[in-house]
Amino acid sequence: MRGKLVVGNWKMNGGLAANAALLAEIAAQWRPSPGRDLAVCVPYPYLPQAQGALAGTPIAWGAQDVSEHDAGAYTGEVSARMLADFGCRFAIVGHSERRQFFGDTDAIVAAKAGSALATGITPIACVGETLAEREGRVTEAVVLRQLDAVLAAVGSGATRLVIAYEPVWAIGTGRTASPAEAQAVHATLRARLAKAGAVDVPLLYGGSVKADNAAALFAMADIDGGLIGGASLKTAEFLAIARA
Ligand code: PEP
Repeated sequence: MRGKLVVGNWKMNGGLAANAALLAEIAAQWRPSPGRDLAVCVPYPYLPQAQGALAGTPIAWGAQDVSEHDAGAYTGEVSARMLADFGCRFAIVGHSERRQFFGDTDAIVAAKAGSALATGITPIACVGETLAEREGRVTEAVVLRQLDAVLAAVGSGATRLVIAYEPVWAIGTGRTASPAEAQAVHATLRARLAKAGAVDVPLLYGGSVKADNAAALFAMADIDGGLIGGASLKTAEFLAIARA
């Protein structure tokens, strides 16, 4: 039986004071229930803050990226082992903003997923099509290409992945995939994961999820929760999504 997982992606937002308030509110107000898990992925400098504020709570924390390299002359990069030092449970890899602005290719994303898994960190591997790709009717081909790259790199580690379907046209735009549109892609991804022996991998939806559309999305058979950007910065909104 798959549960529900809701993960906040703070992106490049926050500051010590604002984070302290947000983390304290989430920790105080989140009532865990069986099969419902909550996590936040914070900017690197705030990992110790998240670790301090959330240790001993049922809320997990993670990073928004990870290097594909183990160590060495890679200025500006952060390795999976460093994330593990701060108790990270998750690392997002292949977010469309990384693919679009920082040159993360399918091969790099796959290597990042592998390096996270090697240290026991769960990669949240993002896949998703652009608006042009959706309009060109190649959504399925794009998300399967992105997923296949990760599956090929991680082998039997596939069962320890989390996958997030995030249509690029829905991220931060206020435009959400309809539950049926999202479910159709999730079913495609689920079928591919089943072939790889990883049918129970959590499949999150991301893209302008809000308190008022989360329940309809999460009610779909193959949607196991959400990756939440903007709405994860507001306690009441984020927790309402997590309870949806
Ligand atoms: C995201 O950044 O992963 C995301 C889904 O953002 P938003 O919820 O703001 O669309």
